[in-house]
Amino acid sequence: MNFDAYKNCALCPRDCNADRTREKSGFCGESADCRVSFIGLHFGEEPSLTGSRGSGTIFFSGCSSRCFFCQNHQISIGHDGRIVTSAELLVEVRALLEKRVHNLNFVTPDHFWPHIRELCRALREEGVNAPMLFNGSGYQRSDQVKEYAAWMDIFLPDFKFAEPDLAQRCMGDKRYPEIALQALREMVRLKGFLEPWDTTGEQTALRGVLVRHLVLPGHVENSLKVLKLLHQEFGSRIPLSVMSQFQPARGRAAKKPFHRTLRSREYDQVLVLAEELGFERVYTQELTEETAFLPNFKNSDDPFSGNKVRRTE
Ligand code: SF4
Repeated sequence: MNFDAYKNCALCPRDCNADRTREKSGFCGESADCRVSFIGLHFGEEPSLTGSRGSGTIFFSGCSSRCFFCQNHQISIGHDGRIVTSAELLVEVRALLEKRVHNLNFVTPDHFWPHIRELCRALREEGVNAPMLFNGSGYQRSDQVKEYAAWMDIFLPDFKFAEPDLAQRCMGDKRYPEIALQALREMVRLKGFLEPWDTTGEQTALRGVLVRHLVLPGHVENSLKVLKLLHQEFGSRIPLSVMSQFQPARGRAAKKPFHRTLRSREYDQVLVLAEELGFERVYTQELTEETAFLPNFKNSDDPFSGNKVRRTE
């Protein structure tokens, strides 16, 4: 695949066939100009990815999923960001690597895949061997996963919805559960489970799949179905990150029940099922009002206040 893929774009399951070289007419709302919002050290990922020196994140603007509750809505829906050429992107990522990051973490990469692939090729040719990480919504074309896997070492897909109606309501495609499952099967087939598995972060991950699931307020049933589905498909050894960090989007009115944070009894219900099903490798989160890793991309120097704390530790 080359940059021509932007001309009749089918980079994601929306299959818009938009000519992104001429206009921003696709669902993701991005043209063929690569746009990034933040490139920098990040300490807000799971310890397997953050380690002691941080993950090297590249946050792309726009998104093919566009869930209305997105925690990164300023960039995924609001398109905050700046256009970078391939050459500029390469220079900035080289600078990031000089900070000795544990990995390169491409956040929401699918709709800019031709740029990312070119970047990865250039970095590998220069001898860069840091693990490359595909950090996506889970809403990926399964027939594209092989191509991603040729360059990526780690997949960090969300599995957001097991309920088609909820998917339809949140991101406008009721096919999400089936699409995400097919893509995940392919990711696991090609890369296996995340390894090494070390929740202290002393040994950071080198390859494999870690599945993230954000529990949504008022939608515990969806989370229970997600866990059952993952268990049925992949067994109890699949690495999971069950997240409680949902925050109503700042400054935007949200419909119930998305107007509030998650309740502890909701999160507990999900964790209880994870234990009953016997999942062996699970990251969980403290349920707090802490928002240090809720980004504000208006702070282009660093959207995450929590990063500053970690850098000075
Ligand atoms: S990447 Fe964007 S333009 Fe291309 S198919 Fe997906 S939503 Fe449509």
